[in-house]
Amino acid sequence: MPARPRRKPLVVGNWKMNLNHREAAQWMIDYSGMNDAWEGRMTASGQPLDRPEIGILPPFTSLQSFIETLDERGMRGQLHVGAQTVSDIASGAYTGDISADMLSTLGCRYVLVGHSEQRRYHPEDDDTFATKMRVVLDNGMQPILCIGETQSGREHGIGIDYALRQLGEAVSQMGCEDMKRVVVAYEPVWSIGTGNVPDLNVIESALADIRDFINASFGADIAAAVRILYGGSVKPDNAASIIRLHDIDGFLVGGASLDPRSFAKICHRT
Ligand code: PGA
Repeated sequence: MPARPRRKPLVVGNWKMNLNHREAAQWMIDYSGMNDAWEGRMTASGQPLDRPEIGILPPFTSLQSFIETLDERGMRGQLHVGAQTVSDIASGAYTGDISADMLSTLGCRYVLVGHSEQRRYHPEDDDTFATKMRVVLDNGMQPILCIGETQSGREHGIGIDYALRQLGEAVSQMGCEDMKRVVVAYEPVWSIGTGNVPDLNVIESALADIRDFINASFGADIAAAVRILYGGSVKPDNAASIIRLHDIDGFLVGGASLDPRSFAKICHRT
């Protein structure tokens, strides 16, 4: 098996509609207390262990208090912040929507695009997802594009092809320089929040198919640069085995990111 190209591992916690602004600040305080555990950690060959890049995606109303507490704790640079969705439109009479400029001005680094819960409860077409990718990049942030097959797709034998179609549509307006900054999160929908993780060989083959697709569309350099995450029931006790897979660059973590201790353990195992 060829050596894995060096990409910085990335672990992102998606809080979904959990943790109000006070709870978000407390999460940060608790998490910062665990941070020292990194110091002095070594690889098997005695090298200092690289921390993964770490991000948290609070709900919109918790972003500000989370960022303020992050600063107060001197954690900026060690943990980054992002949003769970964004409008595809720049500004105007769109009641209830949040623009990419609002998020980047606040200090967001990432925005999730096309999470399966957004696709399900706020259905949008592929063109809208492609536009969201564009506005996130144009505002200096990184889109984390979620793709993955549903339970019924799986039952009908439509697995990775469905996810690859979602990927192809979302990156259709993108050039190579943009694509380098995209993070792809492979999340089989039937695995999200259920405790059911696919067999490791199934995840491995899906991630390889995604990288092959990027290779065919954008070339080998871009395929080697794009980070691909796995998401779906990642927990402290399965992270270490999943992260050994060849094409994986980290995790998108839902439920287990709500507890700072569990999230820190997953980060330590990445
Ligand atoms: P889960 O959620 O870790 O709770 O399965 C993952 C996600 O929705 O991103």
